[in-house]
Amino acid sequence: MTAPPVSPSPRLPSPLDEVADERFARYGVRLLLKRDDLIHPAIRGNKWRKLAPVLAAAGGAGPRALLTFGGAYSNHLRATAAAGRLLGLRTVGVVRGEELAARPLNPVLARCAADGMLLHFVSRSDYRRRAAPEWHALLRERFGACLVVPEGGSGPAAVRHCAELGRELRGRTDVAAVACGTGGTLAGMAAGLGPGQRGLGIPVLRGGRLGREVRRMQREAFGGPRGAWSLDERFHCGGYARTPPWLTEFAEDFARRHGLPPLDRVYVAKLLHALTELAAQGAFEQGSTVTAVITG
Ligand SMILES: *Cc1c(COP(=O)(O)O)cnc(C)c1O
Repeated sequence: MTAPPVSPSPRLPSPLDEVADERFARYGVRLLLKRDDLIHPAIRGNKWRKLAPVLAAAGGAGPRALLTFGGAYSNHLRATAAAGRLLGLRTVGVVRGEELAARPLNPVLARCAADGMLLHFVSRSDYRRRAAPEWHALLRERFGACLVVPEGGSGPAAVRHCAELGRELRGRTDVAAVACGTGGTLAGMAAGLGPGQRGLGIPVLRGGRLGREVRRMQREAFGGPRGAWSLDERFHCGGYARTPPWLTEFAEDFARRHGLPPLDRVYVAKLLHALTELAAQGAFEQGSTVTAVITG
């Protein structure tokens, strides 16, 4: 794949840092952080890994516009808008929630708008059709020729590109853990891991259908199941974007202990909390290495 020509150029492979954390060391477990949040300042973390192939395609002969889907706090919309600004591509964001059109924009959507994204608010029932080709055709009629990028950026090319994350971790860890929204990053990462390594996904949404989704994405991206992976569905803390005060405290404390920038609350805080709990429950073998992917 040709890399999209953005400035600054991405920092790849992303850094892999060991941190000393007694909540893991006590059980003989090493904790590493895979700093995907440092890949690019504007197109962060796994959003870079997922958007890169789309951006490379959009830089070619196709339409120089992207249309994609997201909720009101979508990191994917924000990354797509930033990529559009950096690469001179027109961007359209189809946002779940008609009622949002009447309110002042929240910080995420305000950032999207400032980066030039055209925001199109739709009802929750319309939003459910986000994967339907007939609706894409109508949206193209309305907004002009554009590349339609699936919600969360998790199309087959994106999933294949996330395998690189797994390959960067070969020989470096026993468990590679990642917070899951659509599950696309886990689907790709697991495919890139080496023998004896396993991927662990921590869904941040309630629902219990993610396993099926990850299998579907692997089928579409690779033609069948790849790698060893599992999900632990106990750590969504009430559901998507639910961040109880104790979780915020946990995240602030974790960042302070390890000299990290503020952690993403929707995904990364839940992942790190889950790993801390799992270590205490003895879920990781003594002498093993666990890597938390800091996805954004
Ligand atoms: C979007 C996002 C995820 C979820 O990625 P999926 O591939 O949709 O599972 C995880 N972490 C962060 C920080 C994100 O922005």
